[in-house]
Formats: sequence, structure tokens, C-alpha cells
Amino acid sequence: MAEDLFTYTVKCRTCRTAFKVQLFENHDKNLFLVDRKDWYCEKCKDAYFKKQTAALTKTHQAIGFPEMKGSRKQVSWAEKIRAELINKVEYLRKSLTFDTSEDETLSEKAFELFFREWHEKTDAKWWIDQRRTTVRDMSRRIEEISNTIKKG
Ligand SMILES: [Zn+2]
Repeated sequence: MAEDLFTYTVKCRTCRTAFKVQLFENHDKNLFLVDRKDWYCEKCKDAYFKKQTAALTKTHQAIGFPEMKGSRKQVSWAEKIRAELINKVEYLRKSLTFDTSEDETLSEKAFELFFREWHEKTDAKWWIDQRRTTVRDMSRRIEEISNTIKKG
């Protein structure tokens, strides 16, 4: 079978188990990859993602985010996106300056409500859908919230 031409045996870097991979470059390049690349078997990859996701879940729980719902793969991806988005909001919050302490209090309140909205989002898919959210998008939402507070 032609497929055998592309099948190589590699060793998992973590558990040293040999497993087969398919590579589609030219033979020399494939041999180079087999030799040099860090290969991880499915089991070790799984364990790694689980550990990484568990660590993020714990960090996020500490700042008020509940555990996410979804498939393991979705949650693993969504946790990473959530971490990036939280970093963006924190960046935005730190970049703001205020003329008056009233403005500052209002802004703090708006950020708090903004985070509260996020805390309610427990569906991994929702976070994956937000992966392109920019600091500007967040800034706009926080301004909307501020305006609502002002009116209230
Ligand atoms: Zn392994």
C-alpha cells in the first residue's frame, strides 16, 4: 500500500512508547522530523492537556469563574481562550486613567458587572465563539455598562 511509504515509527518523549505516524514531506525531511521532533503519544498528549486545563480551571475558579461545560477538547481550548480574554480585560483596566474619583468608581463598577456577565458563561462553546474578541470590543461593552449605570 502506498500509505506505508509515509508511515514512520517514533518514540514518545514522555513514556518512550513507540508509535506510528504518517509524514508527507520528502523522505529525507521525514527522517529528520522523526529524529528531531518531540513526539508525544496520544495518551501522554491527553494527560498533558488534562493537566494544563485543570491548572487553568483552578486559576479561573479562584477569580470567580465556574467550571466550564463541554467536551474535553472544547473545554481545553475554551480555557485557553478565557485566559487570554481575561488578560486583555486586565490590560484594558490598567491602561485607563480618570479625571475624577467618581469616574474611577463608575469604571470599577462597570468592570465588576462585566466580569459578572462572564462568570455566568459556563458553556465552553460560548468562549470558543468569543476567541476573536478584541480589547476594543471589551472597551465598548464596558462603556455600555457604564452608561447603563449612569442612567440607573
Ligand atoms: Zn507517551
